[in-house]
Amino acid sequence: MPRVSNYYKIENGKLIRLKKTCPKCGDGYFLAEHEDRWSCGNCGYTEFKVKKK
Ligand SMILES: [Zn+2]
Repeated sequence: MPRVSNYYKIENGKLIRLKKTCPKCGDGYFLAEHEDRWSCGNCGYTEFKVKKK
């Protein structure tokens, strides 16, 4: 049984996602974090991080 709590934390009463899930593969697949992007090891989906000014 996966420990879902590893992927979430509660901060000021709000649920914060620590990891992004793959929109193609579904909730069971998490994107691996890189310096400038997120990527799915399953399907290769890549999401680039947007830097806020
Ligand atoms: Zn995927």
